[in-house]
Amino acid sequence: MGSLLFSNATVIDGSGADAFCADVLVAGDRIVDVAPGIHADLATRIDCTGITLVPGFIDSHTHSDLQVIEGRTEKLRQGVTTEVVGNCGFSAYPPAHPADDLRSFANGIFCGGDSWGWSSTEEYLRAVEQSSTANVVSLVGHGSLRIAVAGSRQGPLSEAMLRSMASLLEEAFAAGAAGFSTGLMYAPGSSAPPEELQRLCTVTAKAGKIYTSHIRSYFSELVDAVDEQLELARRSGGRLQISHLQAVGAANWPLQRVALDRIEQARAGGVDVEFDCYPYVAGSSVLTQVLPQSALNGGIPALLERLRDPATRQALRDELDRIIPWRWSDVYISSVASPANQTAIGKNLEELAEIRGNSPADVTLDLLLEEHGDINMLCFNQSMENLQATLTHPCSTVISDGFYVKGRPHPRLYGTFPLLLGTFTRERGWLTLEQAVHKITGKPAQRYSLKQRGLLAPGYFADVVGFQASVIDSPATYESPSQTPFGIEFVYRNGSRAAF
Ligand SMILES: [Zn+2]
Repeated sequence: MGSLLFSNATVIDGSGADAFCADVLVAGDRIVDVAPGIHADLATRIDCTGITLVPGFIDSHTHSDLQVIEGRTEKLRQGVTTEVVGNCGFSAYPPAHPADDLRSFANGIFCGGDSWGWSSTEEYLRAVEQSSTANVVSLVGHGSLRIAVAGSRQGPLSEAMLRSMASLLEEAFAAGAAGFSTGLMYAPGSSAPPEELQRLCTVTAKAGKIYTSHIRSYFSELVDAVDEQLELARRSGGRLQISHLQAVGAANWPLQRVALDRIEQARAGGVDVEFDCYPYVAGSSVLTQVLPQSALNGGIPALLERLRDPATRQALRDELDRIIPWRWSDVYISSVASPANQTAIGKNLEELAEIRGNSPADVTLDLLLEEHGDINMLCFNQSMENLQATLTHPCSTVISDGFYVKGRPHPRLYGTFPLLLGTFTRERGWLTLEQAVHKITGKPAQRYSLKQRGLLAPGYFADVVGFQASVIDSPATYESPSQTPFGIEFVYRNGSRAAF
């Protein structure tokens, strides 16, 4: 690799500091200088007149655990050069025995088939080092850890199992994992008692790693769920990142302000807590997420048994009707496994109930049974006011939380970062461009302890994005998500131009 000179650029360095005019000199995979009027006669010159130059974006919450090694370019097109995977309690390791145990829980989030798997943590971490599309940072998922030790069993585990989990976690950190994640709304992690979490958070804090959490509830129990995490962080003394903070369902929207107050109070009391959020009012997940998670005790096969038995099905149906925090019309089917149900994609559960002449709860259970649990949903969760409060909060990092589905993915997979910089920054003026860039570069780099990434500064890796500030945006919609962003001119990762 020779040297490159990005000349006459408007530089936003990722630290949150004001933009300035400068050249950026790169040699090999590193930035060597950022200054006006650099002379480097031998360097290949890239004229950046009219272009804003920023560090490669860091998507610090994704579910691309398998896709980062499949050469997928949805993130690169947005300017993303680093992805943090292993979120919400699911990583692709440690291996389960049999391997199907992990696949049956994680495939909905990973968009995986029945053949992936690694025989050790090291093997996965080595595989992602070869990614052609991203620098990959991996968290150890609590659910995966639990499945490796206890299969699909729910509830408290024996002392010997807890000890195995703790030592597997230590080994994963030693092998290069960057942190620990929980997904406390997903079985089997959702059934873990607080002592188990405390023990693993303490291991994480001792190793100096970050702990991230998809908390126990984003619904009416939001504040209790935040409190639980703050208490874990207080006791372990570690760094806490609350994942995709929001209050789901109109009745719960006022709770977001209370949750933010709790976070601010904890910070004032010395707890190192921050949170992340994606720039959309809709979210997406697996359809089994609408169920009481006890229905998944024993895994997907056990759920299907319960759905086939009239008595347990009736009980589940009644409970679902009682606990669902969304309006049925806010929950859309985004992917199904079978050819027979493809027409359900893009329809909400109320529409499907009308078409099938049955209640929405019944249709939900029927679909889960017909598709063997392999269905994804897109759901309208939150208000624009609440979204503004989290996106603009000084403690927030902006993420995609994107995941792949075999149907119609959430547009955040294609548009998160250009949408933040265009629609929410340039058009709505919620943030300055410098603030917005900081939330997707310098801030996550610091939060996840990524060395020499996230800034345009001498010595840093040459992850560089050039875009037109007056154009950048995302045209991706819920109906038609797979659209390429506007305004991204080029992306370099580790000093090499990325092809997409
Ligand atoms: Zn999550």
